Amino acid sequence: MALDFTFTEEQIMLEDQVYRWASTWLEPQMEHMYEEDKMPPEIFKELGNLGVNGIVFPEKYGGAALGYVETLLVYETIARVSNALSMTVGASQTLCFDNFRRNATEAQREYVLPKACSGEWIGCLGITEPNAGSDAMSMSTKAEKKGDKWVINGAKTFITNAPVAQFMTFYAKTDPAAGPKGISAFCFEFDKVKGCRVDKIKKWGMRTSPTGLVTFEDMELPEENLIGGLNKGVAILTSGLCTERITLSGCTLGGQRACLEISLKYAKERVQFGKPIASFQMIQEKLANMYCGYKAGKWLAYSAAAYCDTLEHKSGGKGTDLDRMAAASLLYTGEMGTKIGLDAIQIHGGYGYCTEYAISRHFLDQKLWEIGAGTSEIRRTIIARELMRDDFKSGL
Ligand SMILES: Cc1cc2nc3c(=O)[nH]c(=O)nc-3n(C[C@H](O)[C@H](O)[C@H](O)COP(=O)(O)OP(=O)(O)OC[C@H]3O[C@@H](n4cnc5c(N)ncnc54)[C@H](O)[C@@H]3O)c2cc1C
Repeated sequence: MALDFTFTEEQIMLEDQVYRWASTWLEPQMEHMYEEDKMPPEIFKELGNLGVNGIVFPEKYGGAALGYVETLLVYETIARVSNALSMTVGASQTLCFDNFRRNATEAQREYVLPKACSGEWIGCLGITEPNAGSDAMSMSTKAEKKGDKWVINGAKTFITNAPVAQFMTFYAKTDPAAGPKGISAFCFEFDKVKGCRVDKIKKWGMRTSPTGLVTFEDMELPEENLIGGLNKGVAILTSGLCTERITLSGCTLGGQRACLEISLKYAKERVQFGKPIASFQMIQEKLANMYCGYKAGKWLAYSAAAYCDTLEHKSGGKGTDLDRMAAASLLYTGEMGTKIGLDAIQIHGGYGYCTEYAISRHFLDQKLWEIGAGTSEIRRTIIARELMRDDFKSGL
């Protein structure tokens, strides 16, 4: 059995480089930005300069030609400083641009991907609608062909980055009578369309990561803005969700690591009853539980990413082992993130309840990971469905 739970020298260098940037450039802005709910405007250009925007994209588009393990590592490392901004980066680079890359034509890739890699463009992905969340296939946004144009009507909600994005990919019904088999994927540039409105949504967590409601009213798109073929949307959507769930596990993991590191330091420094609180066994129990939860989730996520990197097409979807592994990765890390965040606040006592302490942000951001990218309940449903598959053989 060849099990080597270590990172390569190159991966360690990548982690060090991203952490150095996050702790020196990002961290000093976080308290103010979180209060104001503002994304640092230059963040994607900064990441472009670091060379970590298009991590899995081929070098000819400006990408780093690395894998999903490295993507997860970069998202985890950014999230050690900001879970929310790591989500914003993931929503642009993995949900939007990577999904686009897998399904677009070469001409579309050549036009879009270099701008994603440089950080000139920020992307967003629209699946969720006001009345279609977990039941995404019941979406009602429609794309009707009129002459050589698509006319789009409907709305997408909770869309990460929509208020700041230049580019959007989304799904719409192109044959409503065909149900899930009548869904197609589209893309557009915000400044090239009319009939699209974005309203920012206020949130109590994941502040700094902009979220929006996108409304389409007779928005016209040229024919070529259809991605991956007519009525092929479901396969695109479900296969993209696997890499999304795996790599976004890094957001909660980085937040968990921050909770543990900050709590450990605080527990050693904070003195009550004449002793550091770290000497009390009830505090030690929390620290030990936080460590175990973080480490267990970490290897669940990285093993799913490593498995994904071995696949020829690096995609999953219904009926694949990757579907189960990806759902398990975000289910476990997401639920652990809330527990670890709560323990971290408890260790900090009243100071944990004050916004000037970074720990409050790390805690507030964690709960999202039981909801976003398909809720815990939906992830359990997927895992159970895949375990009960007739041809399910191994993988345990
Ligand atoms: C900050 C944030 C960022 C987001 N970013 C994006 C984005 O970039 N793009 C995008 O498309 N979406 C995004 N989302 C949407 C997110 O994916 C949805 O919120 C999520 O899929 C749940 O949908 P819903 O909120 O409509 O909840 P609902 O589907 O209405 O669910 C409500 C509750 O019912 C439960 N439930 C529903 N169906 C079942 C079932 N069959 N069995 C058991 N329980 C069930 C759910 O688990 C949940 O607990 C984001 C959401 C948030 C909050």
